Amino acid sequence: MYRTTNSSYGSGVVTRNKEQMSQKTQDVDPMRIGIENIGNTCYINSMLQCLFNTPAISTAMKQYKDNKNSTELFKQFYKIWFSIQAGIEPEHNDIIQFKKLMNQHREFDNFNQQDCIEFFHVFLDIVNTGFLTQPFFGQLTYQINCQNCNNSSKQTEQFINLSIYIEQACRLSQLLSDYFKPEQLNSQEKCKKCQKTSPLIRKTNLSAPPMVLVIQLKRYDSRQTRSNNAIEIEQSLILKGFCDQSPLYKLYAVINHQGYSIYSGHYTCLIKAATCWYYFNDQRVSEYSNKVVDDELQKSQNSYVLFYQRQ
Ligand SMILES: [Zn+2]
Repeated sequence: MYRTTNSSYGSGVVTRNKEQMSQKTQDVDPMRIGIENIGNTCYINSMLQCLFNTPAISTAMKQYKDNKNSTELFKQFYKIWFSIQAGIEPEHNDIIQFKKLMNQHREFDNFNQQDCIEFFHVFLDIVNTGFLTQPFFGQLTYQINCQNCNNSSKQTEQFINLSIYIEQACRLSQLLSDYFKPEQLNSQEKCKKCQKTSPLIRKTNLSAPPMVLVIQLKRYDSRQTRSNNAIEIEQSLILKGFCDQSPLYKLYAVINHQGYSIYSGHYTCLIKAATCWYYFNDQRVSEYSNKVVDDELQKSQNSYVLFYQRQ
């Protein structure tokens, strides 16, 4: 079905500390320094800006003390952050070094542009730094019911982002409700209780909502055909109907993608500030009024990854 969680984090416990839980979107004043494109690296630059401007990460980076156990990739990530934090554009060689460390992973080679969500997953995996990953952890619970005897079983799965296919122009909240709709599984397996192959219905619940909800809008199908459907991106989202806590989330960052394939084209990002939005296009940073961004988000055709902070 049209549901994937993009999760490579199948086990572990979702934990958060109180300090992180209380953080609000407005805690981070975006840093207005861009990052040089060293050749097909706009997908890295856009994702780095979103990570740097994630409140829990920004706070943890400021408190970070040099630690010999840190991975080389984290040290390089820190260098780039530190430079931006100090108001200085990161050095060319530091970006090259960062990319080299990423390239050691088999999915990342020197020449190809990559999907920024793949980068997000591979980066968090190899940077191996808890405070970078923790804000994104959430958990889904699947309840599977046999239509014959009503026997039910439960499974859980951790995720760091939700990936949602776009099949029509609509609101994001509608896409989310559809994502969590009960679905019939085409399983040939026999029910463990009644031993019949009757239809199984799967209900999905967001059993542990993450501190930061990352939503990938999948605009490409398996044939790499792009969906240009305009989505209305709500800046405030209440997750009702599939999450018992009905948490409120606020949008603070958007990665846009333009182009014919997710492996080509151009990535940019928008980061929310107290009174406006900043638009990061590699080295260039510009300011947009709330009105312009509000209008754009009403009928967004290029938004690809959305970052929501739990309130
Ligand atoms: Zn049964």
